[in-house]
Amino acid sequence: MNEEIHVAAMTPIFPGSEDAAGQKATLGVLGGGQLGRMFVHAAQRLGYFTAVLEPDAQSPAGLVSHHHIQTGYDDPAGLAQLAQLCQAITTEFENVPAHTLQTLALTRPVAPGATVVGIAQNRIEEKAHFADCAAVSGVTCAPYAVIETPAQLQAVQAERKDLLPGILKTARMGYDGKGQVRVRTAAELEAAWAGLGGVACVLEKRLPLTAECSVLVARGWDGQVVSYAPQRNVHVDGILAVTHAYEGSLPPALATRARDAAVSIAQHLGYVGVLCVEFFVVEDGSEHGGLVVNEMAPRPHNSGHYTLDACDASQFDLQVHAMAGLPLPEPRQHSPAIMLNLLGDVWFDTNGQPHEPDWAAVLSLPGTHLHLYGKLQARTGRKMGHLTITGPDVASVKTVARRAADLLGLPGLDAI
Ligand code: ATP
Ligand code: MG
Repeated sequence: MNEEIHVAAMTPIFPGSEDAAGQKATLGVLGGGQLGRMFVHAAQRLGYFTAVLEPDAQSPAGLVSHHHIQTGYDDPAGLAQLAQLCQAITTEFENVPAHTLQTLALTRPVAPGATVVGIAQNRIEEKAHFADCAAVSGVTCAPYAVIETPAQLQAVQAERKDLLPGILKTARMGYDGKGQVRVRTAAELEAAWAGLGGVACVLEKRLPLTAECSVLVARGWDGQVVSYAPQRNVHVDGILAVTHAYEGSLPPALATRARDAAVSIAQHLGYVGVLCVEFFVVEDGSEHGGLVVNEMAPRPHNSGHYTLDACDASQFDLQVHAMAGLPLPEPRQHSPAIMLNLLGDVWFDTNGQPHEPDWAAVLSLPGTHLHLYGKLQARTGRKMGHLTITGPDVASVKTVARRAADLLGLPGLDAI
């Protein structure tokens, strides 16, 4: 794996240092979205120069970076420029072509590497990996079947009725609930597969979820691993709406199991960088023992944004440390927190007319931390920013979060 090539060769890249040609230490990121932007902020705060490769001229990360290489992920000249500018490279864009990472890894440390990103990009490989390390991680994924051919579809229709009602998910390019169809019958399954264009899919049994959670793990080139406590996530229409990050947001034994499982999944991959592992919590007494692994994101994750304001090292700080070969400090959460995602919907009133959210009222609430990503146009469902609420105790964080959600017309807080 690419990681292995560089383990021995990886000497720390210290911020502010210069190479033989007098070039300042520069970290690169593929992708210019909000994750890239917050990565750039963290890298710059430490004193690194940054470079973003992103085709969009007005991207959240490109607008704040020292260098913006405005080109596609498979442009050889752009990749050569990125490698020339940077001492180490990461990705914020999950669906970056594998050969892009492989090309960069020929000359630079790339974290995470092409192999692990390739696994995370494909639900079929991802589930095979989870099954591979189930003996160590102690968790399995939801029952599923692979559907890549009409023959497999027929076999599943005939023999895997146990998977219905289920969710048909495309193997590739799914995010925020896209590329997913809920199916109840064999006929609906057939229609859904045709509707998805007959591409490679998995049919997953629909589980009775009582909660969802995720764990962020950071692993260095030398195998050092640190992690955050699991956070509980609430999705609305397939998109993350709220993250609860405080003691008691999940049963302690379950939280420990999830954290240990995520660490073992990262170890088993030989992963370098920040990895997010998402879990389902299912009704007690099920054969899954309460915890089921859903999927993993080979990068910092929306559910870890609270770490910016509630922890002494954020997920983006750890991404910088991991890729640059710096020590990985065990992160400490100093405040309970709730994160509210701000989708473009917030910029429209109930009649669908554009309006500016009442920031004055929101920002007058104690412990609110507003992060807007600098996107120039609000659209329904588009991630425009997030609001993290921290406070001295869980009760006051919940009170402020409810008030902020009311002011912004946000869903997903009924359960708190
Ligand atoms: P992400 O934005 O996290 O990448 P995604 O599009 O890759 O999302 P999933 O995480 O697979 O999709 O599913 C999105 C949401 O749909 C889950 O968080 C969960 O709420 C629901 N869901 C998915 N699979 C199942 C299942 N097997 N049983 C019940 N609910 C499910
Ligand atoms: Mg998901």
